[in-house]
Amino acid sequence: MGLGTLALRAITEARRRAPVLSVVVPCFDEAEVLPRFHARLGPVMDGIGEPWEVLYVNDGSRDGTLDAMLALQAAEPDRVSVLNLSRNFGKEAALTAGLDHAAATGAAVVIDGDLQDPPEVIPDLVAAWREGFDVAYAQRRVRAGETWTKRTTAAAFYRLMERLGGKVRLPRDTGDFRLMSRRALDALLALRERHRFMKGLFAWVGFPSKAVPYDRAPRAAGETKWSYWALWNLSIEGITSFTTVPLRFATYIGLATAAFALLFGLQVVVKTVIYGNPVAGYPSLMAVVLFLGGVQLMTLGIVGEYLGRVFNEAKGRPIYIAERYLPRRGPE
Ligand code: UDP
Ligand code: MG
Repeated sequence: MGLGTLALRAITEARRRAPVLSVVVPCFDEAEVLPRFHARLGPVMDGIGEPWEVLYVNDGSRDGTLDAMLALQAAEPDRVSVLNLSRNFGKEAALTAGLDHAAATGAAVVIDGDLQDPPEVIPDLVAAWREGFDVAYAQRRVRAGETWTKRTTAAAFYRLMERLGGKVRLPRDTGDFRLMSRRALDALLALRERHRFMKGLFAWVGFPSKAVPYDRAPRAAGETKWSYWALWNLSIEGITSFTTVPLRFATYIGLATAAFALLFGLQVVVKTVIYGNPVAGYPSLMAVVLFLGGVQLMTLGIVGEYLGRVFNEAKGRPIYIAERYLPRRGPE
């Protein structure tokens, strides 16, 4: 047997063992929900009729999430994989870690572990994939259990991103809950920036995509880790890693103020020369100085946002650190 044949054998062997579908679940303090999640996921995935694995990523949970994962793996070693990160890296990094380790040859599904993304939608995503779409993203029909403020701020954010996005379109009302074919996944994994605004990265990759509508449930248990402040910061993160439009905005503000100041100056000169007006005093001066100071600090802040991003990328650190990876035991 030649070396080539041997290598080919090894590859086919690995293929035979690798699941067709991987379900990637980032988890942070989800010990309470995880067993329920798994109980709902199992029958749904079995119904699809492809070999599958579920990869639970423990993102530095402070409760018994890792133990819950290990228990699930002990019970079903042939379909549960566990990836434990060395600390909490945040959802976006945990997701990347999971996708990096997804063994699927066919497609990977990303889903939240808190049962807000109903596993029952996965067959619809898989159906879209079988139709030939590379990306099937679940699109929320209603946002149950979310306050009016959260809904309107989310809507405003999507509208802003649509304006700023240029060629890259962010689909509305979608989260990370989606399916990606192997080639779309490989394309996504080639994007190694440290500031990971996943929605933007997913959109950037492209490929034929299909929206699958579903109803998002309120959290089954535990609480959301997203405060409004965190969401605000995520939006800034999204905008600054998605587009450089704010930089241009800063330039335009500068130009506009300069133009305004020029006209204003001319007006002062004309008034003084023609009417002999005394120069208006302290209040207007103060207002202009403070206004300009504010504009300067703000534009400096915008530049700083991008500079900080460059700083973080330049360090070239890994996106996450895996403490251990316990793959499922494939079929012998
Ligand atoms: N998550 C994570 N790391 C974090 C925060 C959240 O892996 O630092 C996981 C969390 O366990 C859940 C998913 O990401 O499975 C979504 O988190 P959450 O429910 O808090 O967000 P929301 O549903 O409110 O967008
Ligand atoms: Mg949630």
